Amino acid sequence: MKLESKCKNCGKYIEFTENVSDRAELSLEKGENIELFCKKCSTKSCHHPNDINAKKNRVISIIGFLIFVIGTILIYHFIGEFYLEHKEQFEVKRTFLVLENYSEHLQFHL
Ligand SMILES: [Zn+2]
Repeated sequence: MKLESKCKNCGKYIEFTENVSDRAELSLEKGENIELFCKKCSTKSCHHPNDINAKKNRVISIIGFLIFVIGTILIYHFIGEFYLEHKEQFEVKRTFLVLENYSEHLQFHL
């Protein structure tokens, strides 16, 4: 997972990669004080796991969003096509339902 934390000296973001899945695992692995080296100002500083954020992988987010959009379009497309192909069956079924309801209604009154 890509992580980032603000340098306490210059305020720039320090990016680093750690083989953990979340912040809790990070503190278990590295303790309460994580020493990070800032390349911008060449200083080491200690960071608490709470000050460290997971860097979102933008590419994965975009791919996920695209899959979602394409999936939705495809589902609508297939449902629409299925409906058009079976439109008559749908309508026949509906007519039967109406007739059934009507006959029940008649029986009730007779
Ligand atoms: Zn710095």
